[in-house]
Amino acid sequence: MEALRKNGPCCICITKNKNCPKNCEFSEYFPYELKDQYESANNLFGTPNIIKTMRRAPEKEKQMLATSIIVEGNAWTKDPVRGGFGMVRNLMWKTVLHKAYLHELEEKN
Ligand SMILES: [Zn+2]
Repeated sequence: MEALRKNGPCCICITKNKNCPKNCEFSEYFPYELKDQYESANNLFGTPNIIKTMRRAPEKEKQMLATSIIVEGNAWTKDPVRGGFGMVRNLMWKTVLHKAYLHELEEKN
């Protein structure tokens, strides 16, 4: 698959201070555009662990894994105490509030 190199080297090559080859195995999953978000993931997991995990993952699940690594890294940056759990808990709380509001609207009609 052709790599998505629009603006520059991939995040992993930037972190490792390497030249990013055209056929870089990570440029599809961590493109230059995600470099700010990748920084959080790098702080949480470390690039060597990210590389190891990505190489072990089945080919068809690598995009999902890369997205998960980025989202988890950002969750821990935004909420250093609860991380991804805090993000899920906030969404669950919002769902409960919206359900209560919807129930209230249904009772009025
Ligand atoms: Zn690269």
